[in-house]
Amino acid sequence: MNTTTKLISLHGGHSGQYCSHARDLLEDIIQRYIELGFTKVGITEHVPPITDSFLYPDEKKLNLTTADLYKRFEDYIKHINRLKKKYASKIKIFIGMETETYTGYVDHIKKLTSIFQPDYIVGSVHHIDDNCFDYSKDEYEKIALDCGSYETMYEKYFDLQYEMIKELKPFVVGHFDLIRIYDGGYEKRLLLPQIVQKIKRNLMLIKALDLVMDFNLRALKTGAKEPYITTSILKRAAKMGIRVVPGDDSHGVNEAGGHVDKAIEILKALGFDTLWPEPRLLT
Ligand SMILES: [Zn+2]
Ligand SMILES: [Zn+2]
Repeated sequence: MNTTTKLISLHGGHSGQYCSHARDLLEDIIQRYIELGFTKVGITEHVPPITDSFLYPDEKKLNLTTADLYKRFEDYIKHINRLKKKYASKIKIFIGMETETYTGYVDHIKKLTSIFQPDYIVGSVHHIDDNCFDYSKDEYEKIALDCGSYETMYEKYFDLQYEMIKELKPFVVGHFDLIRIYDGGYEKRLLLPQIVQKIKRNLMLIKALDLVMDFNLRALKTGAKEPYITTSILKRAAKMGIRVVPGDDSHGVNEAGGHVDKAIEILKALGFDTLWPEPRLLT
């Protein structure tokens, strides 16, 4: 690895304090990034849900409500602002939040953005027709069944992503091909003409808006052979001159910074620029 390339993650830093499926204290996670030599990092906690029907299973199990999670998010923003100042001489923290795309999300996210003024947002799609597809394989299969086929599910995903990008202009587009999460046949599926056409359309919008794509390393943790974005899409993005930045999508101290060095190697090999852009709000 070229030593001039700086370690970075623009998606992650979920902590047990502010996310029910993460672990550890936010400050310990920040300290871990510093220890690893990061000089810049984006922390992007999940937004609170719009209604109780969009609580994640882990949140339901803890009997949390929308109001609880709103309060928790408020606390997150206050805390990360304090840490940003406290560690300013060691690491530049960008305060972010990761979106959702369920019914009503556009107003919900715009409102949260104007109230909490994060440095940037990560635009992610975790739902199709208001059902969360990435939480478990069972749910994923059920949604595919409801859609009629995997192909239709993929198409709906990329259509929703297109709308989200247009509406929210997130500085970082999160895990672009997350829809492949539980699909063993994803490589071929992502090359089907009707799906490629939607992928190309979305990439063109990302390029036109000058957004950044998240090279999401969470996949490696769960045993996948490559990060989100898959190689075929990554190559297209490289050709189009789209910027791609590593995101560890970490949910605890031991995941912070994980695989970022490997991600940088892959990006360099494909000819991506590794002078990382600084996140900002675009709306
Ligand atoms: Zn999470
Ligand atoms: Zn996500």
